[in-house]
Order: sequence, then C-alpha cells, then structure tokens
Amino acid sequence: MCGIFGITDNSDASKLAYVGLFTLQHRGQESAGIVSDSGGILLHHVGMGLVNEVFNNDVLEILKGRSAIGHIRYSTTGSSHIKNAQPLLLNSCLGAVAVAHNGNLTNADQLKDSLQKNGAIFQSSSDSEVILHLAARYRGRRLEDTLAKNLPKLAGAYAFLFMTPGKIIGARDPYGYRPLVLGKKGRSFILSSETCAIEVAGGKTIREIEPGEMVILEGGKARFKRFAPVKQFTRCIFEQVYFARPDSEVAGRTVQTARYEIGALLAKELKHIKADIVSGVPDSGTVYALGFSEESWIPYQTAFMRNHYTGRSFIQPDQCLREFTAQLKLAPIRDVIKGKTIILIDDSLVRGTTSRKIVASLKRAGAKKIIMAIASPPIISPCYFGIDTPNREELIANKLSIDKIRRFIGADELHYLSLESLVSACGGHKDRNFCVSCFTGKYF
Ligand code: SF4
Repeated sequence: MCGIFGITDNSDASKLAYVGLFTLQHRGQESAGIVSDSGGILLHHVGMGLVNEVFNNDVLEILKGRSAIGHIRYSTTGSSHIKNAQPLLLNSCLGAVAVAHNGNLTNADQLKDSLQKNGAIFQSSSDSEVILHLAARYRGRRLEDTLAKNLPKLAGAYAFLFMTPGKIIGARDPYGYRPLVLGKKGRSFILSSETCAIEVAGGKTIREIEPGEMVILEGGKARFKRFAPVKQFTRCIFEQVYFARPDSEVAGRTVQTARYEIGALLAKELKHIKADIVSGVPDSGTVYALGFSEESWIPYQTAFMRNHYTGRSFIQPDQCLREFTAQLKLAPIRDVIKGKTIILIDDSLVRGTTSRKIVASLKRAGAKKIIMAIASPPIISPCYFGIDTPNREELIANKLSIDKIRRFIGADELHYLSLESLVSACGGHKDRNFCVSCFTGKYF
C-alpha cells in the first residue's frame, strides 16, 4: 500500500502534510516522513512508526517552507528499516531531489543490477531509489523532461511524488494501478493517494492524475505532461474492497457507496439463504453487511466489539501473546450471537487463518450456524504491483476447493461474490477499468 501527500504554496506546508499523512495512516503504519522546501533547501525528517509518533510540533517547526511532500510506508519490497523510510532524499548531479513512492516496480532488480554495474551506489534496499539513479544518468533540460525520459523504463505500479527546489511533480504509471489525485486549497495545489486527505486538509478534489500522466506544480501553476500512452486503465480493485477509506472517492463514487452496493449484490446472489442476523467483520465488513441487510431484509447486528488500541503497538513477542491476538482485536458480543444463524461478511479471504479464529470465537459464544460470505471472489494469485499478498502457495483459494476452505475455517457455509458483481459495484465493466489479476491469475 503506502500513502503519499504533497502540497505547494502554503506557509503551513509541513503541518498540512502531517494532516494529510495522518488521514492516510490506514495505508501504512511502518514509517512516516516529510521533506519540505525551505527557500530552495530541502529539509528532511523520517522515522519508524505512526505519523504522530514520528512528528511533533518541534519537528514540524523545523520543517519550514511553503511546499512539502510526505510518505507513509507499508513495506512490500525492501526490509522494514529506517533506511527505507520515505521520502528518500538524494543529492546528485540533478541537485537535491526527494521522492515518495506508492507501488512496486517489477523490473527494479534488473535495473538496479545494471545501474550498480555502472557505478551507482544505493542508499536503501527499496525499489523506489531506482528512478532517482536512472534520472541522474539520463538527463533532460528540466526535471519533467528527465522523468519523461526515464519513467517509461519502469515496469509495474507506481504513483510518485518528486520534489526539487521550487517544484513538485506527481506521476502515475501507464496502467493507473496505484491512485493519485490532484486537489486545490486556495492558492495551494495538493497531491494525495486518496481524496479523503485532500478534504480533511481543507481542500477540494480536482481530478485523478491519468495513467501515464505527470503534473508539474511550479510557480503557483499546474502543468500536465503525458510521458506514456494510457495502456488500459486498471486501478487496483482492492482500493474499494479494503484499502481506501470509506469517505474517499474512487472512479467517481465514494468507497462507502461501492461497499454498500457490493453488500447488496452479495445479498442478491445469496437470496436463497435464510438467517437470523447479518453482521460484518470490522471495519470494512460492517458496510458490506449493512448493504446486505437492506437488500435481504435480514436484520443487521454488531456481533463483535472491536478493540481500537491493538494497532502496530500490539507486538507479538511470543506464542503465548500471539494466541490472544484475535480475541484482543475482536471480542464477540454473546447476547447478539447465542443460538443465532449468522451471515458473517468479510472483505476477502487470504490465508483463512483469521477467518478460522473468528468463526471459532463466534461458535464458542454460542452461534448456532455461521454462513461466511466474502465480498470478493477467491484470491488465487499473488499481487506483483505493490500489495502485500502472500505467495501463491499460501493463498488458500489457490490450494483448496471452496468446500475444503469452508471446512478449514469451520463455517457451516461459505460463499464468495462473483467478479462481475464486484466490478459493477465499483463502477467498472467486466475486465475493464480495474485490475483484477489476483482473482483471475491473468496479468498485463
Ligand atoms: S493483483 Fe490484485 S491486489 Fe494487485 S493491483 Fe491487481 S487487483 Fe490490486
């Protein structure tokens, strides 16, 4: 995942970047960082942890300047280490350049090998640094020309923010896998992974950056430049299924609306099923369950109490504490559950181990029957575009039939949403507009 946020022409740039990153915190909790442009000098602060652990007022006061870019990291490639925290800041023949990256470059290893053979020295093990080394070797007159020359050499998924003194550039890969949105707040331009961060920072969303397009924010203006033709718009459909905040807008509709409709379509596909209540695995499952309830007339009930304090601070140092993780996160509400046939909705089923624990805890609390309904199709293939799915062998739907998965998780019934319904609820057409490769095993 990862989240990126940038803002220009604002005396509170680093503070607004903090607000933006804080709003995007659900996209990554491993590290956070901001680079600000203080009259042509790029100032840098990164740290491991949540946004409010990495920054305080004193740090934000030091990050002076009228422009800033920020990043929160969820590691996919590169180890969990401070040297991989972003934005990366490099001083090279291009001058000072900072980069914040969301995505995964599938040809990073080959490019890195060839750059190292030609003398490049990498500071981090993350794939994001490759573009800066490429840019240092194949230069154009301006940074945007340099990027236009080098971005087409990258394969995979990316939304980038680059900063040099006086300029911020946002760029999105030719497929548009990872999100990048442009907004405005007074005279300031904002670039963000999600619209929710633009709104919370007091701005208004203008539009998505198109696949293969870059936007150059300089001198109070925004210029657009195409560096690659649009191949086929293939946004990651997991933005709607799981990653994005419900108040963000993706492909012309809020994520909340898409999830509600997904729940309703799931109810239509399962209209033969009878149950006492429908409930969702918090948080995303709740909206699906509400949509399901309205369509099916089966009452919605909250079956779990979610503990909101188990974030990354809840470490799992040994087997004893690990045993309690599921119960600590989700505690069943006994009176709601006892003696009931429950339709339980979750966004996806990856390894099956979490669902198994959840079903067991509902059964222990006295549920009569658990009908597990998944708001997406079976995940049969890994993601190569920056989403942290396990390898093929760990994906339960790649190994077992639906009935065997049902037995593994201990549910009485197991149902998945069809791909057609998922794509249509998200606002797309079959096999268009969205990447669905982890459900089909077909990659572009
Ligand atoms: S493979 Fe799946 S997780 Fe990866 S970008 Fe495509 S839809 Fe998203």
